[in-house]
Amino acid sequence: MSDNEFDLVVIGAGPGGYVGAIRAAQLGMKVACIDKEAKLGGTCLRVGCIPSKALLESSERYHQAADGLLDAHGIKLAKVELDLDAMLARKDKIVDQLTSGVAGLFKKNGVTAFHGLGKLAGDGKVTVQLEGGGTQTLTAKNILIATGSEPTTIPGVELDYDRVGNSTTALSYPTVPEHLVVIGGGVIGLELGSVWRRLGAKVTVLEYMPDFLPTVDKDIARQALKAFKKQGLEFKMGVKVTGTKVEGEKVTVSYEEKGENKTIEGDRVLVATGRRANTDGLGAKEAGLEMDKRGVIQVDDHFRTNVPGIWAIGDVIPGPMLAHKAEHEGVAAVETMAGEPGHVNYDAIPGIIYTHPEVATVGKTEQQLKEAGIPYKKGKFPFMANGRAKAMGETDGMVKILAHAETDRILGFHVVGAHASDLAAEGAVAIEFSASAEDLARSVHAHPTLSEIIKEAALDVAGRVVNI
Ligand code: FAD
Ligand code: NAD
Repeated sequence: MSDNEFDLVVIGAGPGGYVGAIRAAQLGMKVACIDKEAKLGGTCLRVGCIPSKALLESSERYHQAADGLLDAHGIKLAKVELDLDAMLARKDKIVDQLTSGVAGLFKKNGVTAFHGLGKLAGDGKVTVQLEGGGTQTLTAKNILIATGSEPTTIPGVELDYDRVGNSTTALSYPTVPEHLVVIGGGVIGLELGSVWRRLGAKVTVLEYMPDFLPTVDKDIARQALKAFKKQGLEFKMGVKVTGTKVEGEKVTVSYEEKGENKTIEGDRVLVATGRRANTDGLGAKEAGLEMDKRGVIQVDDHFRTNVPGIWAIGDVIPGPMLAHKAEHEGVAAVETMAGEPGHVNYDAIPGIIYTHPEVATVGKTEQQLKEAGIPYKKGKFPFMANGRAKAMGETDGMVKILAHAETDRILGFHVVGAHASDLAAEGAVAIEFSASAEDLARSVHAHPTLSEIIKEAALDVAGRVVNI
């Protein structure tokens, strides 16, 4: 094989593309991975999961120290100051460490990285518009599209990436906004809204849907909303934003509420109304790839597109836009290429909102089971009745387990509370292994841990809860 010939060319080095590339190399393929950005790791590492979690962590620590949350522990702080520059620099350093880590992983696994825009050129060819100028043509037996997604906006709202910006803008505000208006009360709105609220901003969330987090189990969403309101996040539900107008440092946001036209003024606006599949400059249409009207690439159960030899995974195909979903699809796609049984279990993909409390969803919600007419039993247990949660001062929250009424198989696993993201791992493993609620109830959980809340919720499914 010449230097430009590969078994696999991956376009996009996000969590889907880079993990797929490494797995393919492990399977013995000669692999190239192209990304238009200099830093590898995609949205997730550069401007998504990692920087947002770094800021969520720092802002929570600041909030605990600055707003007297440590008083109950007997810790009195005389003066707490925010050094926003240092907080942002810490986040940037973590991003640099992780993105250069991906470059290191490519080297270790023999994946060749190309920096430039990748374009499908037909007959197993991909051109790379090299960053330094010029074009290189690569040929491949298989091409994996992992070009991810981009933020969107809504009609009437034009981004200037300063006063009116998206999630990337909100990861780097140079000062704490006085009043941040968030358009969209979904995952990004809640996570980044929480960051700036904790740092002292007034935050108002304008959400189109009348219900809060409609895809989350209702019991869980209700508790989460109560906690967010207690933290001072303000919500206007069921409103339609119609436009924004920037004047100096102020932004006026227009919206319709119950048929009335209203406005709200802030100094920054975060547009968090969803993301769109990214096929810009990819040549997807010319290559004949089947896409829906929103540009989402269509694939079969094994991530094959309609064009032989071209596969797609991650945010650019249907399904939840999650890093771990993209990763697992990347692995499954290349394993299938290698003749192995690649597979993703979509019933066991955790969805987490990393606010405080965190919100975790695995499998079906109670609403979904009802709608599908599936008979179920449920068990719940509150954080309040758990010794470790009391010791931590983290008594808000609950675990809710939904199991099939006849087989006891766990169908849904939901948490609102501290460390819900980590607790969700047990639910994902349980669902992956087709565990019953009885299996969880009979597994020994260390004392005192938050994981005992899971055991008690599982016991509650059978009406045998102990500690309440
Ligand atoms: P991406 O990560 O988007 O990567 C695609 C890559 O392809 C990019 O690097 C892009 O530069 C490159 N590319 C695109 N077109 C081309 C081309 N033509 N040629 C060359 N390169 C190209 N998910 C979670 O699971 N947990 C979280 O906590 C989380 N937090 C998030 C926070 C924020 C603020 C945002 C915005 C997203 C968050 N997400 C989170 C979502 C997560 O980032 C995405 O689901 C994930 O990155 C998708 O991975 P991907 O590999 O499909 O695409
Ligand atoms: P989202 O779909 O979670 O939320 C968008 C919200 O905006 C929805 O509630 C929607 O009803 C609302 N909306 C849409 N149009 C509106 C309008 N005109 N006016 C007011 N509200 C409007 O999308 P997001 O928060 O932008 O996040 C994008 C993607 O990134 C999501 O799919 C998410 O899965 C992913 N992400 C994941 C995480 C995580 O896993 N923790 C974190 C951030 C982002």
